[in-house]
Amino acid sequence: MKVKCPTCQHDVSWEEKNEYRPFCSKRCQMIDLGDWASEANAIAGKPASETAPQNAMDVEEIEAMLAKQNDSFFTH
Ligand SMILES: [Zn+2]
Repeated sequence: MKVKCPTCQHDVSWEEKNEYRPFCSKRCQMIDLGDWASEANAIAGKPASETAPQNAMDVEEIEAMLAKQNDSFFTH
């Protein structure tokens, strides 16, 4: 059975002895793992920067709610 190396598109025989399958070589496997790792880092880095301002807004909302509750508590 032949497969194409996902990294360099060379034909690779799918064999038990080919420990890097579906890659043709360790180099191509490392390149693919490196791509995956950098993509994972990019995805992991995204929510952190996006959720930070959202969390700050949540805290402000909670504080505003507590302030309103305190107002009604003291005025009634
Ligand atoms: Zn390759």
